[in-house]
Amino acid sequence: MHYISTRASSGNPPERKRFCEILLEGLAPDGGLYLPEYYPQVDGAMLTKWRGLSYAGLAFEVLSLYIDDIPAADLKAICDKTYTEQVFGTKEIAPLRPLESGLYLEALSNGPTLAFKDMAMQLLGNLFEYELARRGEELNILGATSGDTGSAAEYAMRGKKGVRVFMTSPNGRMSPFQQAQMFSLQDKNIHNIAIDGVFDDCQDIVKAVSNDLAFKRQYKIGTVNSINWARLMAQVVYYFAGYFQATTSNAEKVSFTVPSGNFGNVCAGHVARSMGLPIEQLVVATNENDVLDEFFRTGIYRVRTSADTIETSSPSMDISKASNFERFVFDLLGRDGGKTRSLFHDQLNSQGSFELGADPAFAMAAGRYGFVSGKSLHADRLATIRDTWQRFGTMIDTHTADGVKVAREHLQPGVPMIVLETALPIKFAATIEEALGQPPVRPAGFEGIEALPKRVTLLPADAMAIKQYIAENVH
Ligand SMILES: *Cc1c(COP(=O)(O)O)cnc(C)c1O
Repeated sequence: MHYISTRASSGNPPERKRFCEILLEGLAPDGGLYLPEYYPQVDGAMLTKWRGLSYAGLAFEVLSLYIDDIPAADLKAICDKTYTEQVFGTKEIAPLRPLESGLYLEALSNGPTLAFKDMAMQLLGNLFEYELARRGEELNILGATSGDTGSAAEYAMRGKKGVRVFMTSPNGRMSPFQQAQMFSLQDKNIHNIAIDGVFDDCQDIVKAVSNDLAFKRQYKIGTVNSINWARLMAQVVYYFAGYFQATTSNAEKVSFTVPSGNFGNVCAGHVARSMGLPIEQLVVATNENDVLDEFFRTGIYRVRTSADTIETSSPSMDISKASNFERFVFDLLGRDGGKTRSLFHDQLNSQGSFELGADPAFAMAAGRYGFVSGKSLHADRLATIRDTWQRFGTMIDTHTADGVKVAREHLQPGVPMIVLETALPIKFAATIEEALGQPPVRPAGFEGIEALPKRVTLLPADAMAIKQYIAENVH
């Protein structure tokens, strides 16, 4: 399997790379995102065989279709080590629970940081350790987080050989639970840096440090952001796992609803569907930051400025642009890299938007690719959390509530609807209290974490200070 950039075209011929080459890379050199040259197809016989596999076994089968530069026995060992009951809480890893008739929740949030990002990040940690050891190299991951991504990365990389994490976050702006999760880590290779500023300051610092190419090379700076293909590929697995749990034969179809921000999670659903998994619809659920809902309704993709990005009670979906969206548009345009480049590079940079409504390709988003969308507001979240608690005794988090609300608008008779549960309620306690008048359930093992000793360094919002801190801490 080779990987190409979404911006490759005849004027800009594709550089074909293997999996382990793109594993440690972010964007392709031409500014595009990596995708496999084609989507391997699954047939009925494969689905039947896969139906009986454990989650780790299923992960190995899916990953083997995309990775051919890691020996099979090693890849199998990595999958077995990653997807364990000990790390993810259940034997099923991603168990399906019925809510009302025809509607299911797929639990993806029982990993170490209680959000779905663990599903991919835990694998990434083991892949990084493996590949760095094989090359005899080291990597210093520099990131910015306002919550879920940073903690998932830290719990995936803690104690891993050859990797250090330098994670910046806006001082005092994460929830107390999220701060406790990250700052209580005592591993020597994990560095929490609280920045005297807001999230945008953290992101600007990461950009500034990464743009200093000499520094980047000398200190082997890398990232783990959501555009990494390996993360997306790992997420494909739970679409298969959800399908097998909701059906008894391969003749059945299901739909998925995905609480969405950067379009990483639902893009994995698009990949699964493109491989031949019988998915009827992929329902994109957004919050007040409705960049994606607007696109699927109108064909207009209009990125927001930071000033136009609203702070909501489902904060992990508060995005101004959807960083993985380019992958889907590349497929939608018949994999025309020149056209993709002109939309995402030229038009977005000059106008901040592009419009596909009049393009014949746009109709295929719904028709051929099964995409529909909807949006959920703060009041919808509260009502959905309350209703789900009162009628089913199930407490869901604010992001999952956005999913359940939008899923109900797209139910089709005879087609099970699976809502991906992207976090547990304890992470967003204030809104749960607002909805239910009682604090969220705290999973076992998280009692009193707010009182644990914290390991964090406070630095000014200044790239020089961060560079100096990294230079002093890479030994
Ligand atoms: C990251 C995240 C999302 C959004 O996922 P994308 O892949 O960015 O679309 C939704 N919910 C939660 C809880 C998250 O952490």
